[in-house]
Amino acid sequence: MVEFIINYSGYSEDDKLAIAVGLSMTFRQVLVEARPSAEALEAIKNGVWGALLITPCPSDLPCFKDVEDAVNYSEVYSTPVGYEGPLPKVARRRTSTFNKHYLKPWRWARGGEKMEVGHYLLPLMACLYRQLKLLDAVPIVVSDVRLQPSGVSQPDYMVIPTWHIPNEVAEVVDVYMPPLKATAIALGILTGGYNAGPVIAIAKTRDYLAPKVVEMGGYVVILDEASDPCQLFSRRIVGYSYKRRQYVVDPSLCDKCGECLKTSCPAITPSPLGVPQILQTCTGCGACALLCTRGAIH
Ligand code: SF4
Ligand code: SF4
Repeated sequence: MVEFIINYSGYSEDDKLAIAVGLSMTFRQVLVEARPSAEALEAIKNGVWGALLITPCPSDLPCFKDVEDAVNYSEVYSTPVGYEGPLPKVARRRTSTFNKHYLKPWRWARGGEKMEVGHYLLPLMACLYRQLKLLDAVPIVVSDVRLQPSGVSQPDYMVIPTWHIPNEVAEVVDVYMPPLKATAIALGILTGGYNAGPVIAIAKTRDYLAPKVVEMGGYVVILDEASDPCQLFSRRIVGYSYKRRQYVVDPSLCDKCGECLKTSCPAITPSPLGVPQILQTCTGCGACALLCTRGAIH
């Protein structure tokens, strides 16, 4: 049984594969007619949740002539497979499902011991994180870029003040599978019927798929197009242009409560006089300003 066939010639070969991967993430059974690049195939080898059949058979994948055998093998081993036989009839038989635990390796990417305070993505991720945390939903963020991961267990950064449990900005990104494009994967997830939360693509450039993601009900952040990413939910497609901003503490307003230090940001430090000091490495993410009870950080 196959639920979707992706063979629209208006998509590039790798984009067809990425859309199929997005469908697979909603546990769909999908067949894609494509000749994807070796790099794209490599990226999906551990990234299949439903069944993903590729025709014609890529040389380094198991190749099947029977569609049911191919579907079963792909689902059991969570791997894409080749298929060489007549195009099967399609029939929908499932509702969309999605479990973020399957995406753990990316979701819990960490910044490592050497905290990347100056990383240009921090203000974007902090902004998205603050918005997503407020939703009673399960968002999926697919990205062409992300904060540098590492195996060590130190949280890289904390951005959420008050009653939220502080978490990592890096956890904003759920799916990162270069060279597959975020917009294409997001389109597949939306086509699969995912509706438990917003589907957001962080794209390096505005490509032909970005408007389709929006048409399907998704959201897109375009890197290097200037606008305010914090307007994402009202505008659906926004830009992000990184400008380093330096936050400062106004000593006349600061009551030395120390709340801002709970960000654990290495760019804000205690000082002998009690008024915290913000260092040159500040990226301007605004987390400490949110924590400040006196409006002393701007
Ligand atoms: S000092 Fe404040 S604004 Fe600057 S990076 Fe740290 S938390 Fe963000
Ligand atoms: S949270 Fe605000 S008032 Fe408290 S120490 Fe930091 S800058 Fe000062």
